[in-house]
Amino acid sequence: MRFTLAFGSRLRPILDLVFPPRCVYCGRLGDYLCETCRAEAQPVGAEICIRCGNPLTQRGLCNQCRQDPPAPLRGIRGVFFYNGPIAQSIRSLKYHGVRQLAPILAAPLAAYIQEHPISIDLMIPVPLHPQKQRDRGFNQSELLAAGVTRILDLPQRTDLLQRIRHTQPQAQLNRVQRLQNVAGAFAPQHDARLHGETVLLIDDVATTGATLRACAQVLQEIGAGDIWALTVARANVSTVLDEKPLTLSPVEVFLLWDAERRSSRDDPATLFI
Ligand SMILES: [Zn+2]
Ligand SMILES: [Zn+2]
Repeated sequence: MRFTLAFGSRLRPILDLVFPPRCVYCGRLGDYLCETCRAEAQPVGAEICIRCGNPLTQRGLCNQCRQDPPAPLRGIRGVFFYNGPIAQSIRSLKYHGVRQLAPILAAPLAAYIQEHPISIDLMIPVPLHPQKQRDRGFNQSELLAAGVTRILDLPQRTDLLQRIRHTQPQAQLNRVQRLQNVAGAFAPQHDARLHGETVLLIDDVATTGATLRACAQVLQEIGAGDIWALTVARANVSTVLDEKPLTLSPVEVFLLWDAERRSSRDDPATLFI
């Protein structure tokens, strides 16, 4: 497995020559997400619930958050709706290993942080279970945070939080089940300690925010100050369930084949997110 992954990353420049970068959404040659498709991404905008970040007809507090705000999170924000080119890019990054999409998706995260100035001390990417990360070869949230670091010089810390158990994929679950599913899934890493720093959790997609909230609870326990969360996309349950068939570039076909070949040897339990 290690050999396969190392070989895969060394193979990439050769693959780029054989299969030049192609837009994962429209298939146009030249970039992994072309300018036209980037322009098609739909920003969530400012008319949102100030706590959970869900879109509303006007900026305010949604009914759900009036009863059960996502404490200890100060707020969750998603830059784009989870559809079209953004949904395709996130799936291509996560499931087909098109890592070149991470800096492309990190750029709007960095822009969002600059446009909404909160004095953030550090970013924490939502961790994957170690087994999951070994199978995937990377944590997409770490790659996204690394992209933000390169633009804004904002540090990320991966030594504070860990995912200690596998959880069922959240897409199939309702809000209450999601909270139960991730309860106890995260824990502090050994001796992790914060001292009132303002923390920004980074993830690819948020739906109900249950995962982000579970992370925030652990961070509060180890001494974080204000905790915010920022994701590339904001989904609702129906859009996640309603995924269109994937359109695959030749590179993705290769990577998908490679990933399937590897996952077919794995224990089914490791297939859970
Ligand atoms: Zn395109
Ligand atoms: Zn809300």
